[in-house]
Amino acid sequence: PDMFLQRESRVEIDLDAIIDNTRQIRRFLPSHTKLFVAVKADAYGHGDLPVSQAVLEGGADGLVVSILQEALYLRRGGINAPILILSPILPQDAPLAARQDFCVTVFQTDWLKKAAALWPKDLHAPLKLHIKIDTGLGRLGVRSCGELAALTDTIQSLSKQGIPFVVDGCYTHFATANHPDPTYYRRQMQQFDEMRSYLRDAGISIAHYHCANSAAALQYPETRLDLVRMGVAIFGIYPSPQIKATCPLHLKTALSVHTRLLSVKKVEKGNCVGYDNGFVAEEDSWVGILPMGYADGYFRIFQGFHVLVDGQYIPIIGKICMDQTMVLLPRQYEPGTEVVILGEQGSNAVTLEDMADYIGSVPQEIPSMFTYRLPRIYY
Ligand code: PLP
Repeated sequence: PDMFLQRESRVEIDLDAIIDNTRQIRRFLPSHTKLFVAVKADAYGHGDLPVSQAVLEGGADGLVVSILQEALYLRRGGINAPILILSPILPQDAPLAARQDFCVTVFQTDWLKKAAALWPKDLHAPLKLHIKIDTGLGRLGVRSCGELAALTDTIQSLSKQGIPFVVDGCYTHFATANHPDPTYYRRQMQQFDEMRSYLRDAGISIAHYHCANSAAALQYPETRLDLVRMGVAIFGIYPSPQIKATCPLHLKTALSVHTRLLSVKKVEKGNCVGYDNGFVAEEDSWVGILPMGYADGYFRIFQGFHVLVDGQYIPIIGKICMDQTMVLLPRQYEPGTEVVILGEQGSNAVTLEDMADYIGSVPQEIPSMFTYRLPRIYY
């Protein structure tokens, strides 16, 4: 849709909160540690271009995305900062990545060989590689020193053949850094330390070792190596209640979701509301219709949850539809009355944590679920 057309249903983003969160985190980290902000998935739903500009203004040194398309979108939007791409790109896109000065993730020798075979002879721009090590997340990366050696040997032999592949970084990612029990985190960190020693002993010097996400960077100083990759904290989401209680920063949530009552109707006792007669009025009731449904990212799993109207918690009734949601009002309200889906109203709030708890998820899933149909309003 035309993003300049406004809707009653909208996502609002407080860019000053993002800048301030970034500044606080920048001051909190050692000065030699680069702060790379994860702006993948449209900056966790906050809008990748405005957020990238905001965090760079707040002192970030670089950006992290998941896929090549996200990196290109940022460059085309005028972002010149370093960008690391976490998911492997296609070998045929390696020249494009080099021309755009992206850092790409690598962990397969086959990928290197394919990318080298397709490399144009006249292209001298270096392809900056970040080697991914799987120290226990069980996702992407090499798991043993043998695999690591095969990878670095291949890079060295390709660069001797004139293919400008350079190792700019080496990293891993934690599975449990937000858990109160540090046992598994420590095992992963030890594994990463061993791999780093191996590379050092092999005479391979690497400018950027990194491992910390928000949870690790906030609570484990030993993870703040040459660089940290932080997402949630920048958006004002604490990685765990324990970190919230102990960390000295005052991070502010940046995102809220709003709509307005589209229609208000009286439903007499015994009448039904919604698909499958999901709600049956036990008494004469005022029902509010919200112009927002699961195609906006307000998924059916939120059935029975609540919104805020007039500062009060108002229950969702019946099944959430594709484009509408129905709520049970305590009295008649005017159409156009402001409704808060996520955020504060009066002295009450619906928080990311509340919504995540309701659906058995993590807070960062919530902002990423609101779809393109909701205009993002920045202030
Ligand atoms: N690094 C990697 C590899 C990731 O996948 C993510 C996000 O999932 C991050 C860093 C940022 O993590 P967080 O948002 O918890 O700070």
